[in-house]
Amino acid sequence: MAAARKPVDSFSDELFPEPAAAEPAAAEPAVVEQAAPEPFTVELVRSTRRKRTVGAELRNGVLKVTVPSWMNATEQAHWVDKMSAGFRRKMSTDRIDLAHRATTLARRYQLPRPSEIRWADDMTSRWGSCTYSTGTIRISNRLAAFPDWVIDYVIVHELCHLEVRGHGPDFWRLATRYPKAERAIGYLIAKAGDDDNHGFDDG
Ligand SMILES: [Zn+2]
Repeated sequence: MAAARKPVDSFSDELFPEPAAAEPAAAEPAVVEQAAPEPFTVELVRSTRRKRTVGAELRNGVLKVTVPSWMNATEQAHWVDKMSAGFRRKMSTDRIDLAHRATTLARRYQLPRPSEIRWADDMTSRWGSCTYSTGTIRISNRLAAFPDWVIDYVIVHELCHLEVRGHGPDFWRLATRYPKAERAIGYLIAKAGDDDNHGFDDG
């Protein structure tokens, strides 16, 4: 797939070859479904098994909040708000200092440092990009919700492009200095399968 409006010296990154098909999610008995502020929707599950604790799990853009069934509506709403706020905070780009991370990772894996690294909120089809002429790296803000070791992989991947263009053997020799590279690629493949927006353009 060809990417449109691509500066010649940057490329649409491809962290893995083909998006994999999504595993169908197991059916869960949802009791209430309600809209929540972006970036996820909330599904409230009232559990008779759960006695004292509230659980929350974010999966495929749905935050499932499980509350004991004895809770009244006010208490449930309280927990939905509380859990949503926690996850929003966790998913925010504010929690990650990209420049600091890039410096640390460049030092650790002996890779070049970018002249600039920043979040991009307009990258709907790519996880990261590298502009060779300026040494600028952009990271999709969708990654902020992913585990740190996955974000680190994408940063390392782009740092490697400061040294090697394209995805030949030389590139992978560098990129696999990051020990969890393969695992992170698997994670990103699964995410791409989960969500149409997470596909990749070919470089
Ligand atoms: Zn790449």
